[in-house]
Amino acid sequence: MVLTYVIKNSLYINLTNHCTNRCNFCIRDHGTGIFAQLKLEKEPTMDDVLAELRSQNLYKYNEIVFCGYGEPTCRLYDVLTLCRYIRELTDTPIRINTNGHASLILGEDTAPMFKGLVDTVSISMNAADADTYYKLCHPKFGEDTYVGVLKFARDVSRYVPSVVLTVVEGTIPPEDIERCRSIAEELGAGFRVREYE
Ligand code: SF4
Repeated sequence: MVLTYVIKNSLYINLTNHCTNRCNFCIRDHGTGIFAQLKLEKEPTMDDVLAELRSQNLYKYNEIVFCGYGEPTCRLYDVLTLCRYIRELTDTPIRINTNGHASLILGEDTAPMFKGLVDTVSISMNAADADTYYKLCHPKFGEDTYVGVLKFARDVSRYVPSVVLTVVEGTIPPEDIERCRSIAEELGAGFRVREYE
């Protein structure tokens, strides 16, 4: 079971395969190489993950990233506990790659929980409007999910130093990518076009 992996000197933590989206482009089920190995036989316990982190020199990495494949905030309380553990050992920046559903999952405003624990929240906005998002990502929270994702982006930007909105190259038209870029700018967030893996 692969609980951590390294890309470009960043340590990625594979905490869960659960997700509240079913994106058309998700590689959970058909990824190759390292991504195929990220399929978890079972959800790791906190003891499993802490043992894995204790075996690592956390301070040697440029960044520690909660990623998956799966949605880390499906286990938000565990993510935050692990962030506290990491923070006690090192100042290495912490990033969470998320679909932005944390507050929808827990049914409350989760943004303040990230304060002081997370340096960067990278949110997959994936589309420039709610309808396209719904058709592309099939969120379990329904057609208004996109509104919730942008709200979370706005909310969490008050508590963490950096918020980045992302889209996946080739999954929406170029003009939509530019609309996404404008939305990110309006929110005061960074913007990144991710390569389709
Ligand atoms: S949000 Fe990420 S993990 Fe979830 S279905 Fe979409 S691509 Fe896959």
